[in-house]
Amino acid sequence: AKASGRRTWCLYQPQMECENRERRRLEEDLGCALEKGQFELHYQPIVGAASRAVTGYEALLRWRHPTRGLVPPAEFIPICEETGLIREIGSWVLQRACEDAAGWLPGLRVAVNLSAVQFREKELVAVVERALARSDLPAKLLELEITESVLLRDDLTNLEILKALHRMGVSIIMDDFGTGYSSLNYMRCFPFDKIKIDQTFVRNLSNGSQGVAVMRAAIALGHALGITVLAEGVETVEERDFLVAEGCDELQGYLFGRPERIMDARRRSVDRHPP
Ligand code: C2E
Ligand code: CA
Ligand code: CA
Ligand code: CA
Repeated sequence: AKASGRRTWCLYQPQMECENRERRRLEEDLGCALEKGQFELHYQPIVGAASRAVTGYEALLRWRHPTRGLVPPAEFIPICEETGLIREIGSWVLQRACEDAAGWLPGLRVAVNLSAVQFREKELVAVVERALARSDLPAKLLELEITESVLLRDDLTNLEILKALHRMGVSIIMDDFGTGYSSLNYMRCFPFDKIKIDQTFVRNLSNGSQGVAVMRAAIALGHALGITVLAEGVETVEERDFLVAEGCDELQGYLFGRPERIMDARRRSVDRHPP
């Protein structure tokens, strides 16, 4: 038993050390990624369900690492949230997205993802105000996507920040709707303009009547509260047709376009309507 315990320890230790070293290296690289201009925003179209016309784009952050290539957000945003770096990066995303959107066809909206960590500093309202002022983007064209984690804090601070943002005229979107355990309760207290039904519910549509019933209920809930309903992760024509028939307001997913660099987004908005 002693020997095997020792062997386990010997095998495990170098691996842990390796992971720690890898993580420290990532942290170090992230620390200077902003000043080195390694972040970029890719934009994914959002379309009106009935019209199929592009109504706006969601900004999705990418890290162009010199040796690792294009790193997806799932691999670096959690680290940035732990280190607090997300506040600086989040401010950059807001500024960049507003400037980009100011150059699009008039009326096209831009949706920006916010991390719960960005709410821990009261300056978020000022950061948004500055981004709008510097870019000259009308507030009504900016949508801020938050997840339930923003609302999990007991005190009222985050609610007040959301209300202040709403008063400025920006839209507040509940992202990943349905994945949290208490979404329903929050829907009463927060001034949401739109819900994004999580893509897991769209995937479930093909798994029989349960998935269909849940999607119908989510759409009905949003509409009963006077909230715009968007379904994300739409990949097939069947999913699209069902969601349009059920009265979903907006759609987003690979069927209509993947996240792309801004030049493509701009051209697409002029040139063509997606399927
Ligand atoms: P999210 O906000 O839920 O974004 C949707 C994710 O689904 C994106 O992944 C998008 O590329 C992907 N997606 C879109 N359509 C489809 C589809 O039809 N099928 C499938 N399978 N996937 C689809 P991505 O870009 O890797 O982003 C992952 C997450 O990273 C985002 O989830 C968001 O939570 C976070 N994120 C991205 N950009 C930012 C940012 O600027 N700030 C913060 N705080 N978080 C960000
Ligand atoms: Ca989002
Ligand atoms: Ca989402
Ligand atoms: Ca998500």
